Amino acid sequence: MLQIEEAVHCLQQQVQPIRKTQSLPLLSATGRILAQEGRAMMDQPPFPRSPLDGYAVRGQDTAKAKKEAPVCLQVVGKVCAGEVFPGQVKAGEAVRIMTGAPIPQGADTVIRQEDSDSGQEQVMIYKSSKPYENYCYQGEDYKKGTLLLPKGTRLRGNEIALAASLGLDPVMVYQKPQIAVVSTGDELTMPGEDLKPGKIYDSNRYWLSARLSELGIPAVYSGHCNDEPEEMAECIRKRSQQADVIITTGGVSVGEKDIMHEVIQILSARQLFWRVDVKPGAPVLAAVFGGTLLICLSGNPFAAAANFELFVRPVIGCLSRDESWIPKKKQARLENDYRKPAGARRFLRGYTEDEKVWVAAGNHGSGSLSAMLVCNCLIEIPPHQAGAVKGDMVWTYLL
Ligand code: AMP
Ligand code: MG
Repeated sequence: MLQIEEAVHCLQQQVQPIRKTQSLPLLSATGRILAQEGRAMMDQPPFPRSPLDGYAVRGQDTAKAKKEAPVCLQVVGKVCAGEVFPGQVKAGEAVRIMTGAPIPQGADTVIRQEDSDSGQEQVMIYKSSKPYENYCYQGEDYKKGTLLLPKGTRLRGNEIALAASLGLDPVMVYQKPQIAVVSTGDELTMPGEDLKPGKIYDSNRYWLSARLSELGIPAVYSGHCNDEPEEMAECIRKRSQQADVIITTGGVSVGEKDIMHEVIQILSARQLFWRVDVKPGAPVLAAVFGGTLLICLSGNPFAAAANFELFVRPVIGCLSRDESWIPKKKQARLENDYRKPAGARRFLRGYTEDEKVWVAAGNHGSGSLSAMLVCNCLIEIPPHQAGAVKGDMVWTYLL
């Protein structure tokens, strides 16, 4: 049977990283992928500046200054942040200076205000300072010409701040992939509506849509379709005009209402695979229709969720050029037992902290949603292994 890694590779081969770019106000670009270089056009800071409030002086003039024997300097001016002192600081002189102001020509250090009498015309200096002791060098953060934000950088708070410090606004970013979500099932009722006998509320559509938003790429379409092959085929036709990927849930198994196989035929879509060695969600189905990738997940809520993490996220990572979409794996020590007859490669809901991981309590059925509430990882149980016991090292996929 097809392995997860093979299926993911196959899916990734079908997509190209998004090439279309857009210009965005810097403040709207958080979480986006930079499509230009962020290179320093000037030194940062652009001038030597004062790290504190006090007096800009020539260090040598203060060499002998002590509390008991202060040095007296002439205050020849004042400079605040955002201003430039036009003159020179000569021997025996000081300029009143505020944090962030350019250090005047001639001065080479700053005396803390607290180490002076805060004098206006003359100032008593109580403590010496060596040249360049209290001095922020021009370019000490970065130098003109430095490539700080390479193309492809994900813009988080730090990167946005750097871009701002470079004066970059607006910024060119890659467009987001267009992802559509469609749930199928005659039994599904939308939340907010009355629940008739035999029906259940649709949770997959909400889970997938919310998860996409949570990870930074909201679905461009989120809808539901009945178990009517023609209706579903029409829905896919329509959505494929816009979407790079359509994620569907339900109807991929072998039951009478498992319509997705027929839908693929109606569309003459190119099937990539059906069934992967994974539990839950083995009957995952993938196809290409036009330029759109169809990833059809089982309708069982945990199967749909686990398969989204395992199959869909790496594909969106590839499309969006954003590696944070690829689930991180780490090994952890199992803190409780999990017994199950050996079988397919299995994924469990888990909770991990530090190097430890617990199998979530409660119903392990793939239909169970409630056990997902406490879950922050998937735990992998290798195939042909009858569960795992406390103390085993297991792989976890962080959610
Ligand atoms: P299916 O994959 O269509 O055979 O559905 C498998 C199980 O998941 C059935 O019990 C369905 O009722 C249930 N199911 C399917 N789709 C959803 C959904 N969108 N939300 C909640 N449960 C679903
Ligand atoms: Mg169904």
